[in-house]
Amino acid sequence: MKILCYAVSAEEEPYLKNWSQQNNIKVDLVPTPLSDNSVYLAQGYDGVSSVGMLPVNEEVYATFEKFGIKQLAVRQVGVDNQDLQAAKKHHITITNVRSYSPRAIAEMGVTQAMYLLRKIGIYQNRMAQGNFTWDPTTVSTEIFNCTVGLIGTGHIGGASAQIYSALGAKVIAYDPNYNADLEPYLTFTDFETVLKTADIVSLHVPLLPATQKIIDRQALKKMKNTAILINVARGELVDTPALIAALENRKIAAAGLDTLADEAKLIGQHLQASNLPHDYQVLSQMPNVLLTPHVAFFTKLAVKNYIEIALNDAVTVIKGKKPRNLIC
Ligand code: NAD
Repeated sequence: MKILCYAVSAEEEPYLKNWSQQNNIKVDLVPTPLSDNSVYLAQGYDGVSSVGMLPVNEEVYATFEKFGIKQLAVRQVGVDNQDLQAAKKHHITITNVRSYSPRAIAEMGVTQAMYLLRKIGIYQNRMAQGNFTWDPTTVSTEIFNCTVGLIGTGHIGGASAQIYSALGAKVIAYDPNYNADLEPYLTFTDFETVLKTADIVSLHVPLLPATQKIIDRQALKKMKNTAILINVARGELVDTPALIAALENRKIAAAGLDTLADEAKLIGQHLQASNLPHDYQVLSQMPNVLLTPHVAFFTKLAVKNYIEIALNDAVTVIKGKKPRNLIC
């Protein structure tokens, strides 16, 4: 058996090689992302795996089918860049890694929230200019005096609830799917109450037609003007121009963004700051905004787990069995 892994990054290599040795299965690694320009590389392989945000179109699945490939193991949670209808049409089974280390993503959200809560960016910016002052606009609040509002209480939202609750914060959440296991850590409520009540609003929903721009101008208007927005889920959940306006007009206090709507083509690139999209340039100049390049997942445990889970599922599908994380 031979598997081709697309979009392999340096930190993935040792784990992929280790899995290959342990399972006695040949795994070839290419840095190239999966697209209709690179799909030809998969000829002669039994299985494929990829990661990334770039849209995968029908031609890719049609070519896999022509090559006799039955599956695509996506080494991440989000599959919003896949065309699931087209995959089904060409009999390609898609698997993802539903949960590899929810704590990794949750901890990044909490870290960003704490940084913004304590106004660290503002102080850092001032000190770079020799300004050692503070004033009423930079006074902070202890986390145990905050209400944290989670939108989505799946793997990552649930892990976030546990951390915030351990820090003494009051946690409220909206999720149409009630989960009794989370009752010790949070109180379920409606979307509107989360927006209106929370000092920190943290997003943990998948990107779906129903969640696109779930944080739009109206939603931002409902939030407290002292509120912090954290998005470690998907950039498209937030209307970025509306967020910039809300920050500029002090409608909300701060934002921590591990994902932005137009990031797909930028991830993994090193560009001149002046060549960045306008919204990145504006947001990166704001001391009350924290930007990270979609790295909430990026811990050693997470990389090890998502590789092992994705490749195990690839083999399961190749052998004609039901995988652990079936998408379609
Ligand atoms: P999950 O499937 O375990 O949980 C998602 C939850 O969202 C579910 O409980 C679901 O009921 C809820 N939900 C769906 N629609 C909703 C709505 N309209 N309002 C409120 N809740 C709604 O997913 P997860 O593992 O917790 O991951 C959440 C998202 O985080 C992923 O879809 C992915 O986009 C993102 N993610 C980001 C990174 C990163 O590195 N930044 C890494 C992994 C995942």
